[in-house]
Amino acid sequence: LAAKLETFRDLPSDTKDGVHVTMLGNIELPSEVKQCLDRGAEGIGLYRTEFLFLTREVQPDEEDHYQAYHEVLQATGGAPVVMRTLDLGADKIPNFPLPDDERNPFLGLRSTRLALKHVDMFRTQLRAMLRASVEGPMRIMFPLITNLIELRRAKMVLSDAMEDLDEEGIPFSRDIQVGMMVEVPSAVVMMDHFVEEVDFFSIGTNDLIQYALAVDRSNKDVASLYTGSDPSILRLIKMAIDTANQHDRPISMCGQMCGNPIYTMVLLGLGLRTFSVVPAAIPEIKRVCRSVTIPQCEELAARALSLESARDVRTALRDEIIRIL
Ligand code: PEP
Ligand code: MG
Repeated sequence: LAAKLETFRDLPSDTKDGVHVTMLGNIELPSEVKQCLDRGAEGIGLYRTEFLFLTREVQPDEEDHYQAYHEVLQATGGAPVVMRTLDLGADKIPNFPLPDDERNPFLGLRSTRLALKHVDMFRTQLRAMLRASVEGPMRIMFPLITNLIELRRAKMVLSDAMEDLDEEGIPFSRDIQVGMMVEVPSAVVMMDHFVEEVDFFSIGTNDLIQYALAVDRSNKDVASLYTGSDPSILRLIKMAIDTANQHDRPISMCGQMCGNPIYTMVLLGLGLRTFSVVPAAIPEIKRVCRSVTIPQCEELAARALSLESARDVRTALRDEIIRIL
């Protein structure tokens, strides 16, 4: 099957009725860009930049960051790249001390909160991203944004970094697009405000599911409760997509949910048009997109939204994908 799926590489992901779907890849290492492009990704929708902190003994300096970003932009050769700023803490333990007395690390000092606490480290990363921004089409995305003040603080650190580079005469792209992850329920609820503050959004279902359902994404004891099939998750995704669309703000999804073919139709039906998935999932998701029409997907989404349990949703989605493929 894998070999056959490779034949999808050069075919678009458009639906049977000709609606364009953009397929992007998720990477953690610069070397993974090639795997995405080889499978037909149009760009990188999520570059998790944490690896520099997870794979070495000492903290990366600006040059280490810059080299990694430069390598990614060289490898993509002009395809767009969304670089996500540091998302450390909780499941991603860095090479510097975190508070060790946190009882709930997923609710603690993680991600953008941690970056704002270690602002020098954050600024170092942003400087490197800005320096790289002249080398190819790239965007900057802040993870785990919970409220507007936090987003504004992150954007402030970015503008400080821009001012510093200006003073030093170092070039960067002035109109770089800035976006945020939608992965906390509060961000979904406040989308109508966030649309005024960012250029684009990406839905992170890995965290959105755990925060909406109060289920630790890494705890095996509650793994059966952790599911994107819960109707509440579909409703949150719909709210986010609808609000972004009403305000003409691009919105994609980069959580694992959109790399699982069982969800492709319902996500298309909810209005998602940009998928960012691990390279291995690209051909399969493309195949589903190419096999369905938007009205079919919309009908399924409407039905799924009205169901009362994750089990019912899962059954409906599975039956439909079996029927279609
Ligand atoms: C997510 O939460 O869906 C996401 C893409 O981010 P990460 O898995 O890196 O937390
Ligand atoms: Mg996340």
